[in-house]
Amino acid sequence: MDKLFVDILKSGCDVKTSEKLSCHTSIKIGGKVKYLALPNDVLSLEKVVRLLRNNIPFQIMGLGTNLLVQDEDLEMVVLKTERLNQIEIKRGKVTVECGTPLKRLCLFLMEAELGGLEFAYGIPGSVGGAVYMNAGAYGGEIGEFVEAVEVLKDGKRYWLSKNEISFGYRDSSFKKEKVIITRVMMRFRKDKKEEIRRKMMNFLKRRLEKQPLDLPSAGSVFKRPRPDFYVGSAIESLGLKGYKIGNAQISEKHAGFIVNLGDATFNDVMRLIEVVKKKVKEKYGVDLETEVEIWWNGKR
Ligand SMILES: Cc1cc2nc3c(=O)[nH]c(=O)nc-3n(C[C@H](O)[C@H](O)[C@H](O)COP(=O)(O)OP(=O)(O)OC[C@H]3O[C@@H](n4cnc5c(N)ncnc54)[C@H](O)[C@@H]3O)c2cc1C
Repeated sequence: MDKLFVDILKSGCDVKTSEKLSCHTSIKIGGKVKYLALPNDVLSLEKVVRLLRNNIPFQIMGLGTNLLVQDEDLEMVVLKTERLNQIEIKRGKVTVECGTPLKRLCLFLMEAELGGLEFAYGIPGSVGGAVYMNAGAYGGEIGEFVEAVEVLKDGKRYWLSKNEISFGYRDSSFKKEKVIITRVMMRFRKDKKEEIRRKMMNFLKRRLEKQPLDLPSAGSVFKRPRPDFYVGSAIESLGLKGYKIGNAQISEKHAGFIVNLGDATFNDVMRLIEVVKKKVKEKYGVDLETEVEIWWNGKR
């Protein structure tokens, strides 16, 4: 048996072998990795990172909802955080493990009568992925609620306080520092359960009306280049709504999304992205950047 496989198991993770990442990304695209490890707790994540960090390339994955991954096999181990999903509340502060789905956190907060994060109900990612990306919607961003973040860097685990972290539009200091987020401590304001539920349902309704949630996608493909530039409307104005390459399509419902109509490939999506970038540049003089993270030749 392969030594690496045994060592990953010994670190406290479960391991899936020859795993297709298309089964783990919301857009259902992505080639095979030899090992996909599922740490069972924060300590096993720490141990497996220590094992890999100096000699084996690896990437961390939350719920795979902001990822576009190449179709060819990838030379790396993927560490998927979905089992790290504990939520704790102490003295008004909520501590959440990185793999917790945002939706579960929102439901927990509703029961605890803590308001503020309702806008995130319907963002399909994990807390770790959301803090890394500074996910946001309808005027709110997750970074606003963060008090401290526990990270793993250079094989060590420690807490960073709010003033050691910076957040920007779909950006955080974690991106530059290449750290792994293990836990997040957040503070919310007291509110009434019914009021929180009403807001959550209202945000979900707006999503259902505007977004193609019935088809695989990775959410909005592009970042907004400036606050007054609506990428979806710009793409629509170019007549690209519904435009297809292979089985990847610019959504007919929301032109900021690319949907997978069946067996779309990584290249189909990349080519669509290039078409959009080129046409938007020609008409509006704007350089679009992708919001989705691209894993290509093992890089992100
Ligand atoms: C239908 C749909 C709607 C969406 N709507 C929104 C929206 O309204 N607003 C919004 O902001 N986003 C939206 N998204 C995008 C996505 O859900 C968010 O960006 C989400 O926060 C990503 O979380 P994830 O766990 O899926 O991250 P992944 O896709 O798994 O990973 C994204 C990046 O985060 C890194 N990462 C993940 N976990 C960690 C960790 N613990 N430590 C360090 N790095 C980590 C990964 O390495 C990767 O680089 C949408 C996506 C879909 C499919």
